Amino acid sequence: MNLSDRVALVTGSGQGIGRAIALKLAETGATVIVNDVNGRAQSVADEIRATGRQSLAVLADVGSSKDVARLVETAVSTFGKIDILVNNAGISRDQLLIRMSDEDWDKVININLKSVFLCTRATLKHMLRARWGRIISITSVVGLVGNPGQANYAAAKAGIIGFTKTCAKEVASRSITANTIAPGFIDTEMTKRLLKSQRQELLKRIPLGHFGSPDDVAEAVAFLASEEAKYITGQILGVDGGLAGI
Ligand code: NAD
Repeated sequence: MNLSDRVALVTGSGQGIGRAIALKLAETGATVIVNDVNGRAQSVADEIRATGRQSLAVLADVGSSKDVARLVETAVSTFGKIDILVNNAGISRDQLLIRMSDEDWDKVININLKSVFLCTRATLKHMLRARWGRIISITSVVGLVGNPGQANYAAAKAGIIGFTKTCAKEVASRSITANTIAPGFIDTEMTKRLLKSQRQELLKRIPLGHFGSPDDVAEAVAFLASEEAKYITGQILGVDGGLAGI
């Protein structure tokens, strides 16, 4: 796989899975725009530049239409194009459905789902002109099988799947593919919040017997972003140790 001459935008890539994706795409040759809402974006961009690749950090809230417009315009005016969009930014605000507040519902839907629409719409304009593109969105096994306490998160992640399948059909004629990756449980800040007992219960349900690493997801993204994956679109790729059995 070789992503030289490709420009990639990875949302929420200041830490965790997004950071691993940004570093992997850079290692494979791409120029990477590192987006996040905080200063960690700059340190990841510095890390990439230290390896000799081009990178730019852009602070932006992907749940805001205005911020997304600025993010995409900054990326295009700096590097001339965006070939690869990775919709990775996400949050969780867990609570049983009966006690879930309007605010926690809206926040998770906005940052996990509306952001995918906003970033894809803004980026597609440039990909359509270039007649090439890769849109890769990070969903979750939770969007496929559900999880108690995560009605908002599951709804957003399931929404990403329907969105991607529609997008894939709308843009296929221009050599643009749209796919999702559905991680299972990956060792990051997000899963550090699990109780020890919850973790042990989950481990029993994962056929491979352990949580995944951010790099496991990053490898799958690099493949879907490559020329080699040109005939794959509208798909859900599980990276879950066999958990969901997709
Ligand atoms: P994380 O919390 O470690 O990282 C998420 C990053 O997104 C953070 O750097 C955060 O600052 C950034 N972010 C949050 N809101 C943002 C916004 N409005 N605009 C821009 N950036 C924003 O989480 P992670 O575990 O690395 O998760 C990354 C993605 O993978 C998420 O979409 C998550 O839902 C998904 N996922 C994670 C797991 C897991 O087990 N960790 C499993 C399935 C799916």
